[in-house]
Amino acid sequence: MLDINPKLKDTINNLPKTAGVYLFYEKPKPNTKYPTPIYIGKAINIKDRVKNHFMQPTYKDSVFVGKITKIDFINTNSEIEALVLEANLIKKHLPKFNVVWKDGKNYFYVAITKSEKPIVFITHQKDSVSTKYIGPFIEGNALKKTLKYLRRVFPYYTSAKHPKNKCTWCHLGLCPGTNPNVVEYKKDLKKLMEILQGKRKTVLYALRREMEVFSNSQEYENAQKVHDKIRALEQIMQHTHVIESAKITNNQWHTTQKIMQEILGMKTTINKIECYDVSNIQGKFAVGSMVVFKNGAPDKSQYKKFRIRMKNEPNDIAMLREVLTRRLAHPEWGYPEVMLIDGGKAQLNVAINSKLQYTNHKQYQNSKNIKIISMAKGRRELFIEGQKKPIPLKDLPQEIYNVIVTLDDEAHRFAITYHKKVRKRALLDPKT
Ligand SMILES: [Zn+2]
Repeated sequence: MLDINPKLKDTINNLPKTAGVYLFYEKPKPNTKYPTPIYIGKAINIKDRVKNHFMQPTYKDSVFVGKITKIDFINTNSEIEALVLEANLIKKHLPKFNVVWKDGKNYFYVAITKSEKPIVFITHQKDSVSTKYIGPFIEGNALKKTLKYLRRVFPYYTSAKHPKNKCTWCHLGLCPGTNPNVVEYKKDLKKLMEILQGKRKTVLYALRREMEVFSNSQEYENAQKVHDKIRALEQIMQHTHVIESAKITNNQWHTTQKIMQEILGMKTTINKIECYDVSNIQGKFAVGSMVVFKNGAPDKSQYKKFRIRMKNEPNDIAMLREVLTRRLAHPEWGYPEVMLIDGGKAQLNVAINSKLQYTNHKQYQNSKNIKIISMAKGRRELFIEGQKKPIPLKDLPQEIYNVIVTLDDEAHRFAITYHKKVRKRALLDPKT
């Protein structure tokens, strides 16, 4: 559990246990009137979900929960509405920790082609002028489920060519059929689009109008069809579950763990990762810091700080060697499976050599299982112990990229905090 100020704790305790969207704000910048949200999320249960960010922060949460000074929420009648509202709010505010995290390319859009018989599909790219895109949506699974339900009310094509006879989707009532009324089909698609843009009321109003027109002209069969549509839509909008609960974070970590193990060529399961950062200002006040992630989440109780002891002009390489040598002398802290070093090939080699000093000693022999990896400041490549060529970061799976960058950010953040402290102490004490 992180330290939360009492006011925020109060806010959290008073959050509703209903579906909706929540917004996290940081302290407003000077000269700005309105605070801007730094993170927006959706939830089946707002209170539980928000609590979860603080009580069991994932590697992703750890980057921003400390900055939160205000929490806001918007109730929705349903999970689908929460999904749509989340997308709309993120698009409007571009909260930095939604944006940073997803890197743009992992968003989802619903695409509707502008052809004679339009088709509907989900995509990552907005790359065609002859297609209308709705989104971005954050999570593919919730979006897929939503579309699946909505397709019952507004049947659509998923491929441009329909077979001469009824297709599988036809039999399920999800396809407009072999020879639809194109005008009606396009009207339906417009409504589907509006639902996905959060205009539920507009759509329901339009449908009620249509029903009225039909019954006024005594077309009762058509009126009944529209009536059924309204019922189905209301049912879907209110009662379907499309959002997965926050418990999924554990599964996400298991997936990440497996992929990472494979990429690093390891046999052991990765539970603990340590990340190091060394820094100094004008050669003075050199400090090293170590942050620890366990099962994908930061474990601040295990963080360590190292005041560099070497006297003469410390350089990055020598400082790193000192920090690692001192750390590896503590098997009782528990060795990690992976150590992430800030730097390139040279830093990687220094780290490997520091480790090799220990592996032959009985007391420290478990250190031989540590896999060392390094990432340079420019963040273009990841060097891996035992692999000749570095991997371009852009080629890493998103999950691994996220973990590594988050670790690196956290190590820098921790180092800077420590640095400031040391410098302040030095300024107050003229002897140092
Ligand atoms: Zn069909």
